[in-house]
This record gives sequence, structure tokens and C-alpha cells, in this order.
Amino acid sequence: MSKSLKQGWYVVYLPTLISLPLFLLVAFINEVNIKENAKKIALQELHYKADYIGRSLHFFAGQQPSSSLEYDSFVDALASNSQTHISIISLDGTLLGDSFSSGYSLKTSPNQSQQPEIAQVLEGNADGVTRYNPLISQSMRYISRLGNGFILRVGLATSKEQQFIIDRRYDYAPTFITLFLITSIGGYFFVKLINDRLKIRYQQLKRRVHTQTEELLLLQEFGTLLTLSKSLEDIEQVLTKFAQMLLYHDAGAISIIRSSRNLAEIKVAWGERNWFGIGHYNLDACWALRKGYAHPQGPYDKLIRCSHDIEEHCNIICIPLVSQGETLGVMHFKRNNFEDEYGDNDRKVATSIAEQVALSIANLQLRDNLRNQAIKDSLTGLFNRRYFTETAEKELSRAIKKKSMMAILMIDLDCFKKLNDSFGHDAGDRVLQEFGTLLNKLTRSEHVACRMGGEEFVVLLSDVNETLVKMFAETVLEQLRNLKIISHGTNIGRVTASIGIATYPEGGENIDNIVKLADEALYQAKSAGRDCIVFSSQQPHITKDLIAHHTEL
Ligand code: GH3
Ligand code: MG
Ligand code: MG
Repeated sequence: MSKSLKQGWYVVYLPTLISLPLFLLVAFINEVNIKENAKKIALQELHYKADYIGRSLHFFAGQQPSSSLEYDSFVDALASNSQTHISIISLDGTLLGDSFSSGYSLKTSPNQSQQPEIAQVLEGNADGVTRYNPLISQSMRYISRLGNGFILRVGLATSKEQQFIIDRRYDYAPTFITLFLITSIGGYFFVKLINDRLKIRYQQLKRRVHTQTEELLLLQEFGTLLTLSKSLEDIEQVLTKFAQMLLYHDAGAISIIRSSRNLAEIKVAWGERNWFGIGHYNLDACWALRKGYAHPQGPYDKLIRCSHDIEEHCNIICIPLVSQGETLGVMHFKRNNFEDEYGDNDRKVATSIAEQVALSIANLQLRDNLRNQAIKDSLTGLFNRRYFTETAEKELSRAIKKKSMMAILMIDLDCFKKLNDSFGHDAGDRVLQEFGTLLNKLTRSEHVACRMGGEEFVVLLSDVNETLVKMFAETVLEQLRNLKIISHGTNIGRVTASIGIATYPEGGENIDNIVKLADEALYQAKSAGRDCIVFSSQQPHITKDLIAHHTEL
């Protein structure tokens, strides 16, 4: 299709193809017309001649020729040097004079009363009759007239009539050529006009397909990058780069619904920073969340505005982020110009962006959940042994690199078996939970608190000094002693733990060795009477101090 449009072959040939049959039709009609006209002209000439000759004969009224020879000489004289065949015939059909016959042959000529043109005039009809004349071996058109006691017959060779036709054809030739040129050239311009229109339409279509393809590729790339996003920061980066290209807007944000499902928090924003002033809002504040589909809102339209939207003079569209039937949050797009309202197409694009983003966020959340399940202890909410093994090595490398102190605190609850036996397994679990909460509260984000199993815990402290480590361990023991744990209405009473501590650099550059030293220190703490802190024997000065401190207590 594109090739034929480009070359536009029919622009040249189509007008000719259309005008040729038209031209042939006109020529055919004209031909019929010419023949008709030629016949008319021939007849007119015959009538005229017949009238004229007839009048000439009347002119001789009273002194008509006495013999047929005189008739013959008369018609010979009239027809001399012309193709006109003039005959004078008596009313009984005898040929009296004939311009094509000699005086002698007249006598031998057959009776003419059977000739159609003679029969016609005798019946009172004088129109032309065509007949083959064997005398001159050609077709003649005859008319006859009744004279005073005789019949006048005038004939004209049809070849003469044919000559008229040829003449008229030449007469019409310029008209035909002009007609042909007009239809061809006019047709050329007409078809060219249609062709140009088609070309424009085709170009528009091509442009649209091109734009749509680009959009599709962009969406595809956008989707791929979103799928590969490993954090909300990655999603923010992708949106900063792509969202503007897919949907014209000045700023955008993503709010994520908290797990408590009472608030939505702005977690991602691009375009103008901090445009979403409040940072969080009640779920009821967003109409898109209530409706479950896109909610556009302009300053002048009748649609109700979300109450989280604090800017009055802009156009906002909110789209819920839904994945597998669960609403994860909302996407918000803002256009500063109040005239740029979000139309149907914008809504479609925004919804398709939101669908991809929702899928990506759902993936992130799923990944986070799986990861948490793999690295967290379900009873206490602390990290598990697996996570400790993964992290301790890394933290040690970091400490070596930064030349900073790192401490491993092995914590074991005292006489836990007895506690279980006295108060039941549930009470023991309750104690483990409470202790987990305590450790969580006391550790900063850069520290790692793990449950190693049973009633054994480990805390990894980074970037610390001996004083801080000591203070931390003391605080743990003190706050544990002060915990009031009630299980099934029974106060469990005082719970204590023992702590063994080993550090980098004192414990060397091998994590297993440091852990082993911390374990040994813990064993020493148990031996020393429990509810105390022991630093690894490689740091005897501290150990001594601590034992002294414990003794004071
Ligand atoms: P020590 O002061 O020497 O540490 O004595 P202990 O009784 O705490 O130590 P021991 O290792 O003998 O006993 C640990 C007990 O902890 C044994 C087990 O029944 C209990 N335990 C282990 N895991 C759990 C748990 O998940 N829940 C409860 N309730 N008890 C547990
Ligand atoms: Mg124990
Ligand atoms: Mg134990």
C-alpha cells in the first residue's frame, strides 16, 4: 500500500482510464449524430435539387419537350459535371430522360414503377430511399417528386454522403481533443487531490503508529525497570526518569498504606520535592481509595477534592495501587496549570502506570516478607542465627577496615529450665518475648540483636568502645531484672541473664574465634554465679572490674 501511494501510479493512469471510455462513448454518440446529420444534409440537398429542378420544369410549362430525347438532353444538361443522378419518368414508369443513360439506352431501360422511390411518390410519399444502382455500381439515395404528368427523380451517391461524414469528423476533432485533454488533465488534478489527501491521512496514521510504538517501548522499558527495582528508592528513580515521559505532570508521589491499615504515608516523591505537604493521611481522606479507581480533581470541576490534597489551584489525579485484590497505596500526579485537566486518555495512562507500580511494590513487599521470615525469629521478633552468621562476618570486615571496635555479647537467661518447670512453657515463651522486646528497644539500628536458639541471645555492637559495651551490658541486665512479667495472672518474678563479651580487635580478626571467646566468657559468667558480665579472658582488666562491679551489686 505504501509503495503504490508513494509512486501514485494511478494519478497518471486513472484519469486516462476513466476518460477513455467516456471519450469513446461521446465519440460513438457523435458518430451516430454525424451519420444522422449527413443523411439529413443529403436529403436536404436532394429536396433542394428536386425543388429547383421541379420549378425549372414548371418554368417550361406549356412548352414541354415533345420527345424523350429532349427530356434526356435537359437532365443531362442539369446534371452535367455533378454526381447527381436526375431522371424524368412518366407516370406509368417509362424512363423519359436520365442523366446517367444515353438516348439509346433509355429505350431499353426497364419500367421504373417497381422502384421503391417511384412507388413511394405514387403513394404520396416523397422521402429518400437508398438503393443500389447497377448502372454505376454504387448505392444511391433517391427522392422522387410528382410533376405535371411526369415524375422527377433525383439521386445522390451515398459516397457523397460518406464524404460529409468524414468532413464532419474532422470538424469535431478539435472538440474531441479538447474534451479528452480536459477530462485527462482535470482527472489528473482530481485524482492527485484525492491521492494527496490519502497521503496526508497515511502519514498521520504512520505518525500515530510510530508514537504508539514509542509509547509501548517506553512502557515496556518502564515495566522492566520496575520489575528489577529492589527498593522504593529504585522505584522513585525509575518514576523520576519515566513518569514524565509517559504522562505529562509536574510532580508525583506514592503513598503506601501502613500494615496497621489506618494511615497512608508518602514514601516516594518526584518532580517538585515535598509537594505533598502532610506526608501522611487517613485512608478516608483519599477518594480514589474509597472508590477503588482513579479520581481526577481540578480546581473548577465538580468532582470532590481529596482532603489530603492541600494545593487548591492545580489538577490532581489519585489512582489506587492494587495488586491481586489488595490495595497497597495510592499514586498521585499533579499538574500545576489548572487548565491542564486530566482527560480520559490521561486516566488510562495513569492507571496503566499505577498497575505496573503496584505490581512492583507488591513484589518488594513479598520479597521483604520472605526475607524477614528467613532472617527473623518469630517468637521474639529479633534476627535469627542465620542472619547473625551472615552479618557478623560483614561487620567484622567493616570494623577491620574502619579500625573501630566491635563487640559480641553472648547472653543466656539464667536457670531457664527451672523457670519453665515452675511456671510452664508458656511462661517461658512470655519471658523470651519480653526479653526480645527489651533487646530490640536497647539496640540501635546499626546494632544487631539475635536469638541464637532456646534462651541464648547474641548482640553485635559496632563502632563502640569498652565503656559503651560495658554500659550496654549493664543496662540489659538491669532492665531485665526490673521486668515485671506476668503469665496467666502469675508474676514470674525476677529473671536474670549472664553475659559473656569478646571484642575486635582484642579477640583477633576471626569471627568464629571472637564468638568462641564470648562463649567462654559466658561460661565464666555462669561459673561466677550468673546475673553478671564477663569480658573474654583476653581482656582481664575489664573482667576484673566487672566482677568487682557485680560483687558490689
Ligand atoms: P543456665 O542458667 O545454666 O543457663 O541453666 P538453664 O536451665 O537456663 O540452661 P539449660 O540449657 O539447662 O536449659 C535451657 C532450657 O530452655 C531447656 C529448654 O527447655 C528451655 N527452652 C529452650 N527453648 C525454649 C523455648 O523456645 N521456650 C521455652 N519456654 N523454653 C525453652
Ligand atoms: Mg540458661
Ligand atoms: Mg542455655
